[in-house]
Amino acid sequence: MRLAFLVLLCLPVCSAYPLSGTAKQEDSNRDLAQQYLENYYNLKTDVKQFRRKESNLIVKKIRRMQKFLGLAATGKLDSDTLEVMRKPRCGVPDVGHFHTFPGIPKWRKTHLTYRIVNYTPDLPRDAVGSAVEKAVKVWEEVTPLTFSRLYEGEADVMISFAVKEHGDFYPFDGSGHSLAHAYPPGPGLYGDIHFDDDEKWTEDASGTNLFLVAAHELGHSLGLFHSANTEALMYPLYDSFTELVRFRLSQDDVNGIQSLYGPPPASTEEPLVPTISVRSGSGTPAKCDPALSFDAISTLRGEYLFFKDRYFWRRSHWNSEPEFHLISAFWPSLPSYLDAAYEVNSRDTVFIFKGNEFWAIRGNEVQAGYPRGIHTLGFPPTIRKIDAAVSDKEKKKTYFFVEDKYWRFDEKSQSMEQGFPRLIADDFPGVEPKVDAVLQAFGFFYFFSGSSQFEFDPNARMVTHILKSNSWLHC
Ligand SMILES: [Zn+2]
Ligand SMILES: [Zn+2]
Repeated sequence: MRLAFLVLLCLPVCSAYPLSGTAKQEDSNRDLAQQYLENYYNLKTDVKQFRRKESNLIVKKIRRMQKFLGLAATGKLDSDTLEVMRKPRCGVPDVGHFHTFPGIPKWRKTHLTYRIVNYTPDLPRDAVGSAVEKAVKVWEEVTPLTFSRLYEGEADVMISFAVKEHGDFYPFDGSGHSLAHAYPPGPGLYGDIHFDDDEKWTEDASGTNLFLVAAHELGHSLGLFHSANTEALMYPLYDSFTELVRFRLSQDDVNGIQSLYGPPPASTEEPLVPTISVRSGSGTPAKCDPALSFDAISTLRGEYLFFKDRYFWRRSHWNSEPEFHLISAFWPSLPSYLDAAYEVNSRDTVFIFKGNEFWAIRGNEVQAGYPRGIHTLGFPPTIRKIDAAVSDKEKKKTYFFVEDKYWRFDEKSQSMEQGFPRLIADDFPGVEPKVDAVLQAFGFFYFFSGSSQFEFDPNARMVTHILKSNSWLHC
């Protein structure tokens, strides 16, 4: 990193003295390239002819690096290539080292343990714990793998912070450049993750975001190598996944990890009724499947969110084509297979329900202090989950639907109203009891039950239309 830093400093100064400056700069560019190719492209350190004449091997290595990182494969040290070489990245090589292991390394068990051996002084301990927990969740969501945390003894994935030489022949390099590295599945050192503690680790994007780097390194711990897909979490450069808001587990990552471990087992909570959606082979719900039902629906800052299994569709008023995402890509700590969701506009908060717990989210952030128990809202102890919920933003009342009954919660007094539960059939005649999801729009309530949707006019107290559930997704 010191080299790269010198090169950057040199640029404006050297341009004033073209003769000697250019020579110096070329020299340090070559040093940088040599180091980079040695570290990440398995260039043997005994290639000495680099400084004097162009070696075919080096041109080949540069071309390989350019190809892998999505640059024009010129084989030359052009400015784009040098710029990429100066970027912060994962310390695991893009080629070499690991591919010598026999077979494809993967864990031969589905339950794994991890342990945070020491902590960075940059963050409180529980912030380190929750960043790692979020990272673990990213991979749990898309595989049959489960993790538990150990506080002592030997875990499969031992996580530590270290600087410079730290006992494994891959010394860290001070601030910047190499941020962390991890070893593929196996005993002892294998599976372990080391973070360079000369970085400034942060919870947000102001420094090096610990969650994002941990999620990437865990990919290595589980057996994934670097991907050449610039959208992928497993792409080796940090700044491609540096924006927390834009964080996504790409389809490339999902395909990679599922090729090792397969998809997660189907939820046991799914009802075995004919309205269950027909899934494609990969287990992904299809928006135009006529049998499609939803787990939960909410608005979020003027958009509509339709939750299904581990996914959701996001539809804005302006863009008619809905986007499709993994829930974990936006909110890594949220569960999948949700029960209910609703937005309280006045608090800019969406509440998410699953089982006897609920979460509060604001934009892409899950709020601290959650999940909380649903009984804190005033439900009797016999209620173990709710089916659907919607908040009426004019009247400031939230409706909770549970089997054939509903409760009403007053948002102003923050308490459950007297006189409830009432029968859905009495107050919403024509609506099928057993509601999956409810949405309020255009002065109507839209009740979703299986693949059917009931448009209910609250003033006329009647169902005005019956539609397919997926009519909102432009099918
Ligand atoms: Zn990596
Ligand atoms: Zn290490």
